Amino acid sequence: MAREPWQQALKDSLTTTGQLAERFAIDPQPLAAVVKRYPMRITPYYFSLIEQIGDPIWRQCVPDPRELDDIGLVDPLGEENLSPVPSVVHRYPDRVIFLVSGSCASYCRFCTRKRKVGCPSMSLSFRELRDGIDYIAATPQIRDVIFSGGDPLLLPDSVLGDLLARVHAIPHVEIIRIGTRVPVTLPERITEKLCTLLRRFAPLYLNTHFNHPRELTAVAAEACGKLADAGIVLGNQTVLLRDVNDRPEIIGELFRGLLKMRVRPYYLHQMDLVRGGEHFRTPVESGLKIMKSLRGPVSGLASPHYVIDLPGGQGKVPLLPKSLQREGDRLLIRTPSGELLDYPDPPAIY
Ligand SMILES: *Cc1c(COP(=O)(O)O)cnc(C)c1O
Ligand code: SF4
Repeated sequence: MAREPWQQALKDSLTTTGQLAERFAIDPQPLAAVVKRYPMRITPYYFSLIEQIGDPIWRQCVPDPRELDDIGLVDPLGEENLSPVPSVVHRYPDRVIFLVSGSCASYCRFCTRKRKVGCPSMSLSFRELRDGIDYIAATPQIRDVIFSGGDPLLLPDSVLGDLLARVHAIPHVEIIRIGTRVPVTLPERITEKLCTLLRRFAPLYLNTHFNHPRELTAVAAEACGKLADAGIVLGNQTVLLRDVNDRPEIIGELFRGLLKMRVRPYYLHQMDLVRGGEHFRTPVESGLKIMKSLRGPVSGLASPHYVIDLPGGQGKVPLLPKSLQREGDRLLIRTPSGELLDYPDPPAIY
């Protein structure tokens, strides 16, 4: 079968540090060691957004030797313990994450699931997907199914359509969500054909993952516009990343720009305690400052919840000053069950 343009773009992606060294004056050797542990893939489009070494696009997709530091947790959200079957994460009673794809268009260096995205252990078999659907069908409390991965939109239309149809047909499933970074890294994936397919599964919510105003290109805006025209409700989850977007003016510009693209900022995430991502972590205080800076000058529409996903699978907590307590140098966060958790906040940098 003929390859679609997005599939060709995926094939033309950069996957070795040698390819990086052809375009930028870097030593590929130290980075190659990182790629052995955590795969690299950068789509031609996303690569074209890099202006110089170390810029906010570069930092998100180019491997960094600091990823090999053994600080942080391999499975920061304790997802493996919350999986009744390998393709499902079930933490909250009424909603589940359905892991339908093991790969992404570009691998984000800060990914929470970097232990497995792009690795053979994450490629899902037909049986694992079927077990996921059977679990959802057999669990009537589940109202909301979040297609995730990896990136669900890397599945071919036929496979994606089949999975969506099966989940959509389960009577107790009221809404479906898709989490995808494709509008950011592979906007050519958002074809008319895909939108026609998705439109059949309303109410369908799609959360994308823009982290920096430089990602808000005309091409990305067009991709989001097509999805919105197909009746899909668009949200965005941003991760607060050190030296990428941890400044009030950057986040303000990002959130206002998203609204113009018909995408509503949904969450601002505190970076997880993931092994290999420590250098991206910012202190909670800087996130609170950013949120405070948004409240006045930015519309409520562009003010998401600032959340931290607690280590060990305890769940998301909105970070409001009242959920935080300081005791000397320690930062304590109130968990959903009311206890105070000692949180390893990194030192302030600004
Ligand atoms: C974040 C998350 C969800 C979705 O939570 P919402 O707050 O409804 O967006 C569902 N399941 C798990 C395991 C999650 O981490
Ligand atoms: S697109 Fe999402 S799942 Fe894939 S590497 Fe990036 S953060 Fe991880």
